[in-house]
Amino acid sequence: IRFSDEKGWHDAQITARGPLPIDPASSVLHYAQEIFEGLKAYRLADGGTALFRPDANARRFRDSAQRLAMPELPEALFVESIERLVAADADWIPGGEGALYLRPFMFASEVFLGVKPAAEYLYMVIASSVGAYWKGGMRPISVWVSREHTRAAPGGTGAAKCGGNYAASLIAQKAAIAQGCDQVVFLDAAERRWIEELGGMNLFFVMDDGSLVTPPLTGTILPGITRDSLIALARNQGLTVREEPYAIDQWREDARSGRLVEAFACGTAAVVTPVGRVADTAGDFTIGTGGTGQTTQRLHQALNAIQRGQAPDPHGWLHRLT
Ligand code: PMP
Repeated sequence: IRFSDEKGWHDAQITARGPLPIDPASSVLHYAQEIFEGLKAYRLADGGTALFRPDANARRFRDSAQRLAMPELPEALFVESIERLVAADADWIPGGEGALYLRPFMFASEVFLGVKPAAEYLYMVIASSVGAYWKGGMRPISVWVSREHTRAAPGGTGAAKCGGNYAASLIAQKAAIAQGCDQVVFLDAAERRWIEELGGMNLFFVMDDGSLVTPPLTGTILPGITRDSLIALARNQGLTVREEPYAIDQWREDARSGRLVEAFACGTAAVVTPVGRVADTAGDFTIGTGGTGQTTQRLHQALNAIQRGQAPDPHGWLHRLT
């Protein structure tokens, strides 16, 4: 769907994927005015199909657009664009542990070399079938704490899902891999003390009294939809969830003393991923036994069962397509 200041949203179409003719002076290529989303369409236990919380993605997309000085795409149009694309690609929604991954995005397409919000944009959605994230079962990941780089600063774009945030985080992700770890842990930019999130997932900590802690939405982390769903599910299961700052040194101390028994990361792609080991220049440590904890397993199963229509959906999260 195209946008121009003059015409508003217009010219919606569904086409086969192919190269995009793009002018070298398109504003996005220089000033990175670009935002995106990620969500999945699932095949349900009864044979139907559904999106998981597309309204939440639509709201986050709207908030990201606002932060990046881009035009607002009405929430209903966002959801409808996905419904129509998935209807055209319905045969590509895999059963089993797979899903149809959807990637809505919007970028400044105006041909103009100058620092100002563009007057023209393109909004698109890509659909792509994905198989099981964990082939052969869930495996705990190792994470590396970046002491050098931060992902987002107060007043910056950390809460928006914009490409620039990822551009800034790649060097730290590369360093984590060089250290033999799967993912990077970012700390806050001001004090380099408070745990924020991984490169593409939010974090939860499970204490020995069964309570959960997750970093608060201070504006420098992405408000994950999986994070929000897990908070609701955990509370439903009678668990206490505290959204409060948690320091990296506290994490190490609590893991070593046994006060912290599990940690997991979450996001649309993997849903829930246990964290088994933390590498940090201030001292490495293992979480629990380094395996997958019970709370992590239970929350993962609970959310996965709702997403696939194998359990009741008390929050009305499934947006049925067929
Ligand atoms: N944080 C970051 C930086 C991410 O890229 C993602 C993935 N979108 C998440 C958290 C998790 O968000 P969600 O649960 O909405 O996928």
